[in-house]
Amino acid sequence: MSTMSAEQVDANPRKRLDRLGKLVLDGGRISREDALWLFDLTAGPDILHLISWANRVRDQFRGNAIHLCSIVNVKSGGCPENCSFCAQSAAYETGAARYGFIESEPVLKAAGEAQDNRVNALGIVAAWKGLNEGPVLDEVCQRIRELASDGKTRPDASLGIIKSQAVANRLREAGLECYNHNLETSRRFFPAICGTHTYEDRMDTLRYLRNAGIKLCCGGILGMGETNEDRCEFALALREIDPAHVPLNFLNPIPGTPLEKRPLLPPMEIFKLIACFRLLLPHQEIMVAGGRVANLRDTQALMFFAGASGLMAGNYLTTTNQPVEKDLQMIKDLGFDIRREERFEPKQACPA
Ligand code: SF4
Repeated sequence: MSTMSAEQVDANPRKRLDRLGKLVLDGGRISREDALWLFDLTAGPDILHLISWANRVRDQFRGNAIHLCSIVNVKSGGCPENCSFCAQSAAYETGAARYGFIESEPVLKAAGEAQDNRVNALGIVAAWKGLNEGPVLDEVCQRIRELASDGKTRPDASLGIIKSQAVANRLREAGLECYNHNLETSRRFFPAICGTHTYEDRMDTLRYLRNAGIKLCCGGILGMGETNEDRCEFALALREIDPAHVPLNFLNPIPGTPLEKRPLLPPMEIFKLIACFRLLLPHQEIMVAGGRVANLRDTQALMFFAGASGLMAGNYLTTTNQPVEKDLQMIKDLGFDIRREERFEPKQACPA
């Protein structure tokens, strides 16, 4: 019986998916050429075959547990940056709430609610360009110390661009375990969504954080007009950075922002994207974050079988999410557990 050549195998999409699925399960890395082919797959039975492999990869590398995290908006609106998807940019009239840095009580209250909802981590998030040495950093470190000593949830943060190694070190000394700083999209497409800071500013921030021994949470937004090649380059860039968590947001167009007229992504396209990220990032905690309900509606449950291993529970920064109880029931109904977070061990410095 004659064996099929590599060309013959790859000429058949299902056989090519089988080859790639087995490669990842055996610990291999998908090439850039195969990754581009995955992102270019179009709707149809091949997507379900891709999803079935992504589910096996999720199960083998992330097990049967789902990571939950929540966020609290500690400073809202009036941000000087102009990220074109963002309701909190001062550049756009979106009606988003505007308030200054909040006191401890609401943060600790949010931590209590998160713990009651079996949510592992609480991220303090602020709408500003970033963090420098000074009184604001002192207050931020105080909030982190309070969250860390409270012990109810893992203290996380998403506080924009970090301007120096010293700032990152202070956050770690205060007890910060994980920092969300998204690349948002590919290096090529980034200038199309933000004109007030650069992709390199974000890469520098990730380096400072990693060098300070802080766990990285780094993902982005899909559905902003990027190409499949952008999506592939974005996923490959994340693979080089090797963050612990990868939040995938799906654009929920906010009225008043430059992206307000963007169409929502079709759910099957979203499941394909989650599956592509899972095959390229088998070890990561791939979380479905913003835009989940707006884009997926009643099809949400399939996200876990497409490769997702986490989700953001509770309301977003300026828009509401579905009740946490509904998420917990969905996870239970699907036979998944809630992941309990193990203590964090710092990784080696970020690639140059
Ligand atoms: S830096 Fe953050 S808060 Fe400011 S506009 Fe960009 S995404 Fe929004």
